[in-house]
Amino acid sequence: MKKILVHICCGVDAVYALRKIKEEYPDAYIEGYFYDPNIHPEEEYILRWIETERVCNDLGIKCYLAPYEIEKWLTAVKGLENEPERGKRCSVCHDLRLEKTAEFARENRFDAITTVLMMSPKKDFQVLKEIGESIARKYDLQFLSIDFRKNGGIEKMNRLSKEAQLYHQNYCGCMYALFQQREGEYIKELVSYGKGRLPGSREELLFIKQIRAFAESLGLPCKEEGFNFVNWRVIHSILKINKQEIPHSVLWFSRSVKGILRAKVKNLMYEDDKKVALLNKYNCKIWILNQTLKDIPLEMPRVFTEPILIVGSDYRDLIDIDTKVEIRLKTEFDENGRSQNLIIGNPEAVHTLEYYSDTLPDGKEGYSFINIKGAILENLDRIRRGEIKVVIYGAKTAGNLGKMYMKKAFINI
Ligand code: SF4
Repeated sequence: MKKILVHICCGVDAVYALRKIKEEYPDAYIEGYFYDPNIHPEEEYILRWIETERVCNDLGIKCYLAPYEIEKWLTAVKGLENEPERGKRCSVCHDLRLEKTAEFARENRFDAITTVLMMSPKKDFQVLKEIGESIARKYDLQFLSIDFRKNGGIEKMNRLSKEAQLYHQNYCGCMYALFQQREGEYIKELVSYGKGRLPGSREELLFIKQIRAFAESLGLPCKEEGFNFVNWRVIHSILKINKQEIPHSVLWFSRSVKGILRAKVKNLMYEDDKKVALLNKYNCKIWILNQTLKDIPLEMPRVFTEPILIVGSDYRDLIDIDTKVEIRLKTEFDENGRSQNLIIGNPEAVHTLEYYSDTLPDGKEGYSFINIKGAILENLDRIRRGEIKVVIYGAKTAGNLGKMYMKKAFINI
């Protein structure tokens, strides 16, 4: 029986290509090989791997996760950083990935190799074919050059990918291509904010995909429901009181301050859980909590607000009428915010176990993978019988948005 090793770069490219290979070589033993050190950053690499594994599991194909050799990739493409996509950097990148695939194939007694990179409309089929054939020859292997795109391959890939609700990345993989694609723009794909899983972040999506992969490995039906929202994040923030820098957090949907704001406290108000200092400029406020500093999740979506900075009770006595305050604050609104709910089990089940996928920026106020895995295992029989479902809502800390979306409490046009 012929043994074929298939290099895989992502779930989307693999979802149809693997089916096609199975169809063309029905008697072959097929295995996947995920070697993609070109993917930046590492969270993106893990996300693409999880989706690849989901696709392979569904088709009963074993897939091997090779090490993430980012330094090796960076060294290989040194000097080619500014090459355009499909240029010399891409040839080196393909060389590196296919050479490693061939090495693994030779060591593990495969007869042939191929790559699902040939699925992508953005890749040059002829170049991949030539690279693949030359590398395979070196290792005494056959290279299978299959034009997956022929006969409506792309449409089939898109349909299958949609059905499986696969994560569809919007860039090839490396930071250099992203720098060119978004020249002069801020590239949020390369940035992580805080230690937690913020609403709409890749970390939040990765968490959902990890749980989904686990639930599907138990044979449970899963469904993701995505929704859009206006996202918000802090780019940088400094608060000084009487020239002393103070640890603080910023309330969701606070707008930026232009330049440096130098102001004084003009009024103090006392509420149940905090003291509020109103500054004499721009309606800025400082909330001084009755407890130590913590990030504050929103229970409800809120409107755009003047800057509100939050400090812990340790600074209660430092802030009084006429206290001098200095603030630098840059925040960002993103109209492309997107999060998702994950439903595990029968969506019609009467009982629901509720969890959340996001956390506060400090990583608090959330659930761990272990928490949710434990709940699924504990209720496995009831989930299988359709008596209970597990729902993991997205974007809780931004105002319970996932739960509101499920209850149709707002309309996603
Ligand atoms: S654009 Fe894609 S193929 Fe080209 S070097 Fe970057 S990751 Fe590799």
